[in-house]
Order: sequence, then C-alpha cells, then structure tokens
Amino acid sequence: RVEALAALEAMDVGKPLTQARADAGALARYCEFYGGAADKIHGETIPYLDGYTVYTLREPHGVTGHIVPWNYPMQIIGRSVGAALTMGNACVLKPAEEACLTALAFADIALEAGLPAGALNVVPGLGAEAGAALTAHPGVQHISFTGSVATGALVQQAAGKNVVPVTLELGGKSPQLVFDDADLDAALPFLVNAGIQNAGQTCSASSRILVQRGVYDAVKARMAAAYGDLSVGPAAEDLRLGPLISNRQKDIVEGFLTKGADLEIAGQGRIVESAPATGAYVCPTLFANVPAEHPLAQQEIFGPVQVLIPFDSEDEALAIANSTDYGLVASVWTRDGARQMRLAKKLRAGQVFLNNYGAGGGVELPFGGVGKSGHGREKGFEALYGFSQLKTVAAHHG
Ligand code: NDP
Repeated sequence: RVEALAALEAMDVGKPLTQARADAGALARYCEFYGGAADKIHGETIPYLDGYTVYTLREPHGVTGHIVPWNYPMQIIGRSVGAALTMGNACVLKPAEEACLTALAFADIALEAGLPAGALNVVPGLGAEAGAALTAHPGVQHISFTGSVATGALVQQAAGKNVVPVTLELGGKSPQLVFDDADLDAALPFLVNAGIQNAGQTCSASSRILVQRGVYDAVKARMAAAYGDLSVGPAAEDLRLGPLISNRQKDIVEGFLTKGADLEIAGQGRIVESAPATGAYVCPTLFANVPAEHPLAQQEIFGPVQVLIPFDSEDEALAIANSTDYGLVASVWTRDGARQMRLAKKLRAGQVFLNNYGAGGGVELPFGGVGKSGHGREKGFEALYGFSQLKTVAAHHG
C-alpha cells in the first residue's frame, strides 16, 4: 500500500512524495520489526533464597493512549502503536486534526490484516477536546505523546492525575559538531538534509551547525551552495521541500526569520513559481555567525532554518552544544577517535551519531530525549519495556 498511503500523506501534510513514500516504508518496517519482536521478549528467572523459584512476567498496561502530531503521522504511529500492540495493549490513537487521513487508512488496513476489532481505535478531533479527553480518561493506563513542550506538559499533568506513566517526545534543537579534521564530503549532505528534510518540521531536525574555525569558511560556502540548489513547491512536484503544514506554522517560522533580521544570511533556497501564493511556503534559510545565545540558536523553529555557529576548541563546542533546554540528538564529525568517545559521553542527548546523522531513521535504535526533549524511549526493543509492566512471581516450594 506504499503508493496509496504516500499519496494520501503527501496530500494531507504537503510533504514531497519521496518523503511520504519513505514514511510509508517506515510504517511497514515498524510493523515488521515489532511483529517479529513479539515472541522474542520475555521475563527472567532470578536466583533467590533456598526453597524459592522467582521469575518475572512482562504484562501489558491495558488500554494505551497515543497522541500523534502532524509532521510524520505514519512513522510515529508505527513506532508507538506498533510497540504497544506487540506487548498486548489496546490502543486509542488521536491523530493531529491537520493530518489524520493515514491514521484512519492504517486502522482499515489493520482490520483487513486480521487485527481484532477494538485493538486499535482511531479518534480524530481537536487536541484540546479529543486529546484532552483521552489523556484525562481513567480507563487509559499509559499515554505516549509526541508534540510541543507546552502540550506535553499538559499531557503529563493529566496523566499525573490518574497516576499513569507517560512517554513524551517533545522535539529539540539538535546540533552537529564539525571539527577541522572532519571529512567534509561525507558530512555535507547530512549537514543540510538534517535541517531541511520535511521542510524542517522534524523533531530530530539538526537546526544548529557548530563549525571549528579552521573549516568554518569552507563549510559555510559549501552549505550556502547547497541551499542555492533547494527548491520549494507543491508536494506533487516532489521537490526537496514542500509547504509547511499550515499558515499558522508559517507565521511561527516567519516570526523567527524576523528575529534573525540583523543576522548574516549565508544561503537561501527558492520557492517555485507554481507554488500558490496562499500556500504555507517558506524559503529555506541558512544564517551564519549566529551567537549561541540568540533565540534562533536556542529555540525550536520547526521550519527550514539552520544556524551556523563558529567555535575554537572542543570544550567550547561542547558548552554550546549543551546550552539549550533540549537534548534529543547530536552528531560529531571528526576523524579523532578519542574525541568521538569523549563527546559521545558528554553530549546531552538521547542519541549521538559519530560521522553520520539519523542513521537512516533507525527503527531498531532506541530514541528519545533528555531535558525539555522529553522522557521515555521509543523505537527498538527498548520501547517494548515501556509498553509493558514487570510482575515478579516468588514461589516458595521448600
Ligand atoms: P501540539 O503539541 O499542540 O500538537 C501535537 C498533538 O497533540 C496533536 O495531535 C494535537 O491535536 C494534540 N493536542 C493538542 N492539545 C492537546 C491537549 N490539550 N491534550 C492532548 N492532546 C493535545 O503541537 P502543534 O501542532 O500546536 O505545533 C506547535 C509546535 O509544536 C511546532 O511549532 C513544533 O515546535 C512543536 N511540534 C513538535 C513535534 C515533534 O515531533 N516533537 C510535532 C509537532 C509539533 P490537534 O493538532 O488535533 O489539535
């Protein structure tokens, strides 16, 4: 169903077809990965006192609530619902009102594939109504939420009232650190793509590029040239970038561009003529020489905007990298193995990539943040622990 789902997602979200196809492929991959994991996760036996046999059982929470945003509906449904169903939970999924079509299509496919009726339920509706009702419901025993920090805090409060666990994935301000000895040819595609993929509306977007002085001018020139090749247009034209999800999101991003009015613009893409003037199109923009404390270097923009920040030493790079409220992803570009190991430990992030970024999506790789990026881990086997509870059974048999 990749083509049908991709066409639906491209129409609903505005993302280029190539990206929508990749998302549909990822949804299938999550189902495959978690389907395969279902008979590979189990409890343990624990050596205990004489005359006892002790073991643990992994049990489902019961009914789980899933609140999904509009940026990658299929991928986020796959990682969250896929893991929850695998552990035997029932799911109530609240997609974003702006992008709910693939959630509904996925539920139909699940029924057709033989999932029992009632195991997966999709309840569209506005967040403040349907989402709030779901998170406050006393029959929901676990909530997973992906979205903004402000709404995540509301979700956590609601979960707190019912004393149920919550997984929050709240985005980031993820840095890539480029050192003088980096392989720039290898780094360049990742530096740019991690910022503009899905028009920058990506929780793990890399919006900060920290560059050591010795290669700063070269990186700036090469990224600026890459920006010059970026074009933005309707999803069906399948360019590098589509429109943003809404004019509301466009206003948010343009607000940030206004805040950067005094900064140096190193490179920009272009909006193609076929893009309707009323559409939510934003020109991808690369700012240079941005002070680390500037709002553009500290706040999540969620649009195609990246900042270049120069640094001199490893310590300075680390201090800048760790200076935001967020901590989702970070990457380090260097040939120095000892530096890779030091920074992998010291960077404040849930995932650290060494000489790559994003590792092709990484269905298998635990993912989640620290600080305002949230808590709990999704993806990989790790998610299966979050979507289950451990029961300890201690048998005394003499
Ligand atoms: P929200 O966090 O408000 O929306 C995310 C999800 O939460 C949607 O399904 C939304 O429903 C739902 N929701 C909204 N209010 C409530 C509530 N009170 N209780 C329960 N669920 C609720 O994000 P926005 O769409 O408003 O986007 C604003 C900003 O959030 C973006 O600019 C970006 O910075 C960040 N964001 C981060 C994402 C990430 O991947 N980490 C994804 C999306 C946004 P509905 O949309 O139907 O109202």
